[in-house]
Amino acid sequence: MRITSIKVYQVKLPLHEGRYAWADGKYVDVFDSTVLQIQTDAGIDGFGEVCPLGPFYLPAFGPGARAGIGELAPHLLGQDPCQISKINHIMDVALLGHPYAKSAIDMACWDVTGQALEQPVCRLLGGRFGEEVELYRAISQRPADEMAGSVAAYRSQGYRKFQLKVGGRAQDDIARIRAVAGVLQEEDTLIADANTGWLAADALRVANAVSDLDIYIEQPCRSYERCLSVRERIRLPFILDESIDGLEMLLRAHSDRAMDVINLKISKVGGITKARQIRDLCVSLGIPMTIEDSWGGDIVTAAIAHLAHSTPEAYRFSSTDFNSYVTVCNASGAPQRERGVMRASDQPGLGITPNWGVIGNPVAVYGS
Ligand code: MG
Repeated sequence: MRITSIKVYQVKLPLHEGRYAWADGKYVDVFDSTVLQIQTDAGIDGFGEVCPLGPFYLPAFGPGARAGIGELAPHLLGQDPCQISKINHIMDVALLGHPYAKSAIDMACWDVTGQALEQPVCRLLGGRFGEEVELYRAISQRPADEMAGSVAAYRSQGYRKFQLKVGGRAQDDIARIRAVAGVLQEEDTLIADANTGWLAADALRVANAVSDLDIYIEQPCRSYERCLSVRERIRLPFILDESIDGLEMLLRAHSDRAMDVINLKISKVGGITKARQIRDLCVSLGIPMTIEDSWGGDIVTAAIAHLAHSTPEAYRFSSTDFNSYVTVCNASGAPQRERGVMRASDQPGLGITPNWGVIGNPVAVYGS
């Protein structure tokens, strides 16, 4: 099988809540998502999606994804999309870094391969563990009482894991955490995600002030070293996200005992192939994972479900269903949340069918 064309689409993803806000006053009102279509001489089309969390979360932004795909596409035309390790090698030789630009291509190759083999991607990634994947809900940063109200509302929809967007003033964040803890039950999971927004002293103040609670602290500071210095001085369980941008950082952090859980985002590490490599290593090392992506619509949500569902349950800390946050549906067949859980599709490939009414016309076409 050969890749005959690569088509790129830009899809705007507005939010049901209107705005998603996190540390340092950062927010996004409408996400800039890129959908990618690989066409083949076998008549099989594969789809991928990459959606950065705005231009200031990771070193990634919407137009950058599309420019990176444009740089890579000429190297991929004529290649076999089912030889996915080779596709990744070609991409890494052709373009240094820019993992997010490679992610949608890698995802589309998994979709093609699954369709060619008539198997859902989760089976190709190792199998299906359990009946369902538990989800967390990210709680946009707002005043403490509004965040507690938001958690109570999502809890009534079935979520049992909540990731609070903190990373503001220490006193405000302590109030946010305490307000939310007050509406949770014993079986619920609470994460305070500062998204690099705290200086070390702020992180220590907040962690010390809520040390009586059953709570995880996620990525308090910008640099890995500062996160490690906080980790060494607090007792709460600790998650690294932004700092774990690839295999080498995972190995270093594991060696430093720098975290208890990692956040594994598909596009942060360059696609499903590299995320699977990190996932498998985490299982061997005994490190649970939040398995997700930076953001996205139905195609990203489908990919998350396949990667998560093919991970042993003990190592699935949580995942999320981005397609329930956004107001438009870019594909049918993606997992739909039911009472705080989702399931990977049983259909071949990612199990999605593009919604052309939303995806529209390509903004770039490579090949014939
Ligand atoms: Mg995070």
